[in-house]
Amino acid sequence: MIKTSYISKTVADLKPSGIRRFFDLAANMEGVVSLGVGEPDFVTSWSIREAAIASLEEGRTSYTANAGIIELRREISWYMEKEFRVSYNPDNQIIVTVGASQAIDIALRAVVNPGEEVLVVEPCFVSYAPLVSMAGGVPITIQTDKEHDFKLLPEVLEAAITPKTKAIMICSPNNPTGTQLGKEDLTRLSEIIKKHDLLVIADEIYAELAYDEAFTSIAVIPGMMERTILINGFSKGFAMTGWRLGFVCAPKEISEAMLKIHQYTMMCASTMAQYAALEALKNGMEDVEEMRRSYRRRRNYIVKSFNEIGLDCHNPGGAFYAFPSIANTGLSSQEFAEQLLLNERVAVVPGDVFGQSGEGHIRCSYASSMEQLQEAITRIGRFLER
Ligand code: PMP
Repeated sequence: MIKTSYISKTVADLKPSGIRRFFDLAANMEGVVSLGVGEPDFVTSWSIREAAIASLEEGRTSYTANAGIIELRREISWYMEKEFRVSYNPDNQIIVTVGASQAIDIALRAVVNPGEEVLVVEPCFVSYAPLVSMAGGVPITIQTDKEHDFKLLPEVLEAAITPKTKAIMICSPNNPTGTQLGKEDLTRLSEIIKKHDLLVIADEIYAELAYDEAFTSIAVIPGMMERTILINGFSKGFAMTGWRLGFVCAPKEISEAMLKIHQYTMMCASTMAQYAALEALKNGMEDVEEMRRSYRRRRNYIVKSFNEIGLDCHNPGGAFYAFPSIANTGLSSQEFAEQLLLNERVAVVPGDVFGQSGEGHIRCSYASSMEQLQEAITRIGRFLER
């Protein structure tokens, strides 16, 4: 045993992610139907894989520019303009990162001073609060609820703002609730954000997976572009989780600050993955559309089925998660998930790991085959009858 004082206090104080425990439990069991993992069930399109292979055959094995190859940044700029109507200069406003994860990390570290508060809207992706802490900031969690479709209410936002508040992290479509914020929601929130001169770190990694309404980026709301750091990437929409490729778009001064951190800690994202991403943006949009259609079908099926078997489930507008309420079972989300796994061998994630207001829910990823989803619903139905 080494001395615990060897470990930094910031890191020692981080709680381990609650998702892991369930994966470890499920990994040692046979015949498990998993609705647990947060990644596409598609393999990356062949043309994208081929582009990576070609880059290797051509001997492109060196570092790239810190911000990423300029061809890719130009393509990202064009893509952002065409898909989301936001305009970023590829020369100094876009950085190619190691997944959206690294983009969030450098965004926070570039703007947060020690002790400044960052608002984290729960239920949310498990990394946000730990990343704020590691950046030296103080995560302040604020809650949403099912009655309001897990949308952040402007008055809840305003009540949480203090003189120390520097930024807010917003994720739409959301992991784990699937909630998508529409233009009106974003406009109302933006009024408060502008009034209190906050920055926004907008995690738009699920932007391609919006099923009912066209996706709106918060950066298009007047007065928001100059205070927004947009996070996006290839993991979800393009089914490229393992490539570890994302990007971040921001005003020039913030991009320059993020680039300093990126160049000292990462140098650049993987060269081969950057060539793959270039192909994804140039020729991959039809595949994205097809995957979106497929997720939409599965979303419709799983939401309807949950409601039929007695789990009240709101209709998630995007991402690939359903977040049904299990409140009527009298079990906590941890108890529900554990008993479901042990009795019926279905792996879901207990909602409380995503924050206080996640309690009373379970996260079910529907990025799984229709047969697996049907089997999961049969088993959950049987579990509920007992
Ligand atoms: N943000 C959210 C909301 C996510 O759900 C995830 C992945 N689960 C990420 C960021 C990280 O994405 P990446 O694989 O690009 O690092």
